[in-house]
Amino acid sequence: MKKIGQVTIGRSVSITGKGLHSGEDVKLTLKPAEEYTGIVFHRTDETAGANAILVNAKAVSQTDLCTEVKNDHGVKVKTVEHLMAALHGLGVDNIIIELNGEEVPILDGSAEPFVELIDDAGRVRQDDSRQSIQVLKTVEVKEGKCLARVSPSDNFIVEIKTDYKHPLLPEQTTAYELTEDSFRDDISEARTFCFEKDLKMMRDRGLIKGGSLENALVFNETGILNESPMRMENEPVNHKILDCIGDFYMAGYPIMGDFYLEYPGHEMNNRLLKALLEDKDAWKFC
Ligand SMILES: [Zn+2]
Repeated sequence: MKKIGQVTIGRSVSITGKGLHSGEDVKLTLKPAEEYTGIVFHRTDETAGANAILVNAKAVSQTDLCTEVKNDHGVKVKTVEHLMAALHGLGVDNIIIELNGEEVPILDGSAEPFVELIDDAGRVRQDDSRQSIQVLKTVEVKEGKCLARVSPSDNFIVEIKTDYKHPLLPEQTTAYELTEDSFRDDISEARTFCFEKDLKMMRDRGLIKGGSLENALVFNETGILNESPMRMENEPVNHKILDCIGDFYMAGYPIMGDFYLEYPGHEMNNRLLKALLEDKDAWKFC
């Protein structure tokens, strides 16, 4: 495989918005970073010295309805997956992400505002080669009806099987190969979604305080509550692929692997990622 240089952004850029679960306003600032920095969150509202969280599979501390990372001091950041998808889709290796709160803003529920922010900052190619993870053998995890498997490939490929038992969301299997163009065209604008029947449970648990029809598609028994049409055919399925693109970048490096996921979710994605990385025969840096 051809070696290309690592990438960071050209200048600092900021955006402010509400956290999906906390409902609180958070300012997010993306800053350029040196080669080999990786992706590092900085909580500016926490004590200096304990406020940095380096993204890697072991830092993933919670996967219940969003993906959360935590450092050894217990400092955490929630709902990182859509920002991580944008960084993966646009091939950003090194970046500092400052936040003055606990949750990445949900914005419009897709990765598009993060793509625009990264475009606004510009990208800069660095001298040393990008490090990627090459999958060497198949690794699989199962739980109930869920299955998550990764096999060797020269590219990042996701195939997902979904069935939401909903007239607008029939059972289907969808395959996607990550390239910057396909990410921009087909995936980045796909918004998060949920079902009206689950809203009460989530509210009772103190979640989705910042959720609204402005940042999520909400399905009822037969249709959709949002007045605006879906942005694309298959928007929910494409959002699931977006989540996978974010979740598997939690390795801290791009993975060359062919992922097959039945009924995917953040938890199974993270379990597969940890199972892969813990098996030293199953991958190598390339
Ligand atoms: Zn999502």
